[in-house]
Amino acid sequence: MPRKIQILPESVAQAIAAGEVIERPASVVKELMENALDAGASKIAVELKAGGLQLIRVLDDGEGIDPEDVPVALQRYATSKIQRSEDLFAIHTLGFRGEALPSIAAVSQMTIKTRVPRSMSGTQLLCEGGKIRSTTEVGCPVGTEVEVKNLFYNIPVKRKFVKSIQTELRHSLNHFLRLSLAHPSVSFKFVHEGRILYEYLKTDSPRVRVEAILGREIYGHLQPIEFEEGETHLRGFASLPSFSKGNGDGIYLYVNRRFIKDRIIYKAILEAYRHVIPGGKFPVVILFVTLPPSAIDVNVHPTKAEVKFKDPDRIFRMVQGALSSALASPGSLKKREDVGDGMGQPPSLKEFPSLGSTKPYPIPLPLVGGDGEAVTVVREAWTPEWEVERKTPFRILGQVQATYILCEGAEGLILIDQHAAHERLLYEKYKKDHEIGSIPAEKLLIPIPMELSTEESFVLMSYLEEVESMGFEIDAIGERMVAIRTIPKLTEPFDPKGMVREFLEELSFVKREGKGREAIHRMLVSLACHSAIRANFVLRKEEMEGLVGALHSFHHSLTCPHGRPVFFVISPEELARQFKRKG
Ligand code: ADP
Ligand code: MG
Repeated sequence: MPRKIQILPESVAQAIAAGEVIERPASVVKELMENALDAGASKIAVELKAGGLQLIRVLDDGEGIDPEDVPVALQRYATSKIQRSEDLFAIHTLGFRGEALPSIAAVSQMTIKTRVPRSMSGTQLLCEGGKIRSTTEVGCPVGTEVEVKNLFYNIPVKRKFVKSIQTELRHSLNHFLRLSLAHPSVSFKFVHEGRILYEYLKTDSPRVRVEAILGREIYGHLQPIEFEEGETHLRGFASLPSFSKGNGDGIYLYVNRRFIKDRIIYKAILEAYRHVIPGGKFPVVILFVTLPPSAIDVNVHPTKAEVKFKDPDRIFRMVQGALSSALASPGSLKKREDVGDGMGQPPSLKEFPSLGSTKPYPIPLPLVGGDGEAVTVVREAWTPEWEVERKTPFRILGQVQATYILCEGAEGLILIDQHAAHERLLYEKYKKDHEIGSIPAEKLLIPIPMELSTEESFVLMSYLEEVESMGFEIDAIGERMVAIRTIPKLTEPFDPKGMVREFLEELSFVKREGKGREAIHRMLVSLACHSAIRANFVLRKEEMEGLVGALHSFHHSLTCPHGRPVFFVISPEELARQFKRKG
């Protein structure tokens, strides 16, 4: 019988997009999980210690590796998945390069234990720094277990680039979630330091998996999408206009069940949502594109994170079209029931009662007036030079467009953006309150239950103390259920769940960018933004006086915490020039 795993001929090996496959523990998790999926596993367990730096173990019940093939699998370009270069254009598996196992083996201490169904015993192979130490016969269940210890132990330079345990764990979890989302018919488990963090049981309905990963609440804002044109199918879920996020993390793209990043599809999605959700906000979209393997090239990126479409314009048009028509029908929710998820039972709304209130989820207030300005701008803190001494107080002339306060002062005619101004003042107040640990808070009579997505609960776990320092008190009441018991006392009514969600988005961003120190600043900005008076809000005379009075000692270059101006000054000279007056 010919060997199942073959070394690719030189010519094919050369056609492979070479590159560093193993950048961090998460790359190992991804590659080993992909191998397990390619082996047809129905159960996959991932276990990590110290964020994967100490140990990564991936266990599957797939087809296993033949005893004589085990050492072969560790050679470069040894794969059972393709044989000829033509096969590169007909790829049905996640792996195909025969690079992962040897790359991992080279930088760790690796043990493979594997058994094929027709064999009574299995094989155990020990390998250190790429060198095979032993191959023995062992008793083990059908399937494969790969254990990777002390990653990069022999490459100190690489170890230096590895970040904190939490960061590395997060990267691994991302891969775990992405793969779990696309393979509902497989059971997955993720264990860190002996604790089960996530477990998803296999199901024939993709929506059950989506709900399990994103949480019931977000799931409640999704509608199924289904579209077909020729041999290309689009399936998945897209958020209704009632929901949006502050970042693009909720967009999951898959091509032939491979998670990818793709600018064209991403653009098509944002285009479809352009006038549907506020500027600067993002939808949640889980999109599975299925097309013949010959219509894409998957061999373009070292970690297989991108693909190249033969006809990208067509993909753009299809994605935008499918989403736009789903969003355009005002009875989107009804459509949800009509269409079903195209992949299983039609979801019933009754089946997923929303927890807490039955009111529609309020659209989170854009941090800035919907003008798409990035929320990530961080201006320098309040500097003393912004304080000025004015002899004459501002004289309030009135409110313009229910948004600006028009005044006269020594500098000339002054327009004040009421939201930006109030936001800045509140930000400073909350910052001071926070420093002395006394953000005013109130205990709720009835706690608000909130279901978090896997990602959100992970971020909350890492930042609970910081979130609580904002005046919240949050208790875990289930695997991903929390109860909000105390909320900050803000001047304006607000949606506590929406705010916690916004915090978590901000925190997820600062964490990813390694800007942990900004966490508090970002949350204070959110608090201020939510309690500040809005634009398009008619103010009473006393309210204007209060606000303008508080601004009296500040220079006109003052900005809101997002960096937008508070004042707009038209000097007497400017007025004279406009009216063509001399001198
Ligand atoms: P690739 O996945 O690109 O083929 P890898 O280096 O990841 O390359 O794996 C090499 C070969 O080892 C695979 O082609 C497959 O035959 C075998 N293999 C690896 N992991 C498993 C597994 N978990 N179960 C069964 N076979 C496996
Ligand atoms: Mg592989």
